[in-house]
Amino acid sequence: MNDRSTPETPIDTKHTTCCIVGGGPAGAVLALLLARQGVATTLLELHRDFDREFRGDTLHPSVMEIMERLGLAEPLLELPHTQLRRIQIQTETGMVTMADFSRLRTKYPYITLLPQVKFLEFIIAEAKRYPHFELVMGANAQELVEEDGKVCGVRYRGHGGWHEVRSSLTVGADGRFSRLRQLSGFTAVATSPPMDILWFRVSRQADDPEGVGLLARARGGRLLAIIDRRDYWQLGYVIVKGSYQALRDAGIEGLRASIAELAPEFADRTDELQDWSQISLLSVKSDRLTRWYCPGLLLIGDAAHIMSPVGGVGINYAIQDAVVAANVLAAPLKGDRLTVADLAKVQRQRELPTRVIQTAQTFIQKRIIATALDGDRTLSPPAFLRLPVLRDVPANLIGFGIRRVYPQL
Ligand SMILES: Cc1cc2nc3c(=O)[nH]c(=O)nc-3n(C[C@H](O)[C@H](O)[C@H](O)COP(=O)(O)OP(=O)(O)OC[C@H]3O[C@@H](n4cnc5c(N)ncnc54)[C@H](O)[C@@H]3O)c2cc1C
Repeated sequence: MNDRSTPETPIDTKHTTCCIVGGGPAGAVLALLLARQGVATTLLELHRDFDREFRGDTLHPSVMEIMERLGLAEPLLELPHTQLRRIQIQTETGMVTMADFSRLRTKYPYITLLPQVKFLEFIIAEAKRYPHFELVMGANAQELVEEDGKVCGVRYRGHGGWHEVRSSLTVGADGRFSRLRQLSGFTAVATSPPMDILWFRVSRQADDPEGVGLLARARGGRLLAIIDRRDYWQLGYVIVKGSYQALRDAGIEGLRASIAELAPEFADRTDELQDWSQISLLSVKSDRLTRWYCPGLLLIGDAAHIMSPVGGVGINYAIQDAVVAANVLAAPLKGDRLTVADLAKVQRQRELPTRVIQTAQTFIQKRIIATALDGDRTLSPPAFLRLPVLRDVPANLIGFGIRRVYPQL
């Protein structure tokens, strides 16, 4: 059958209260929270499943406390995972603890490392228990539906052609390449992280050490993050921004040799890296929209603020956005009295925490990462880490942000 539908003449039009574009951590958690509060919610996800390229598997203490409030922490922790209790940097002059989560006042004093696909499948399975939740996979949102200066839905390409969803609120949770951000025309303020990261894995062997957590090794202008994933080792090779193509042109053998130098314990398994397709490039970006909303539309998660990977906080902040959005918006959505002031309130509650963490990330990028990538400079830890009163600041900031966020039940 020929598909004759167009954005202007979609095959069908559905009506819902909240249409969320993007089934990543922000969109999936928001959909669950709204549906469990009885708000008719449609979640549109571009892909046909949740299993895709690596983009971080970290659930911070704040996320675990949110899950606990929802009665979901225990079943979540029954899924195979590892726990990361500290972030350390091994420099030429010694070992420095950057963040020690085990000192945090929480039932979950660690970062839970759980494959993101498992987390998303878990949240979606939970959301499906609620009759107000609808999920459309393979839905590529491309156009906003606008009437009288207000966004009142989206048009997406999906099964059989173009479809339309009309809603009181459209939420763009479509990540770092957000189509809805692009369509909204909102402007962003960007910072310039000095690095990109190559993520890949090597196998674990029987006599490898346990409980390594996250260890970064800095030597000779190179930086390697080593994360203990129980069944394997996740490695993050940090490179100077924009140098990926040169590294690729030099051949995968050069990368293997560099890893073997930084981490001699993996020298016997670097040949597991046979092909660049085994390596995910994270082109590091960091920015934040000056405005996250307009009538009928709200952006959250990476769509509103792309996070640098420093501290691995992107998922954490995306989920906190979702929780605040649900807390503020569920009642007005249910009562059909949503105003622009409600959307502004979401931005007001989330903008300051985002600015603070991005400022801290910029400091670490300039003070630590740029130094580590400069072969002529020696990396020394920031002096404040030696002060007992300030020692727990990084763990708190990474684990929770400047304020703890909980869902209203
Ligand atoms: C390689 C890599 C490693 C990372 N490591 C970490 C880490 O260790 N810890 C951490 O906290 N963060 C990490 N991040 C960042 C983290 O992935 C993001 O901050 C987080 O996923 C943001 O969540 P989100 O829900 O806002 O967006 P996303 O997770 O990006 O989800 C957006 C969703 O929208 C969908 N979508 C996109 N366009 C459309 C469309 N037009 N129509 C419908 N659906 C659409 C996408 O398919 C996706 O499912 C990493 C990122 C990358 C790329």
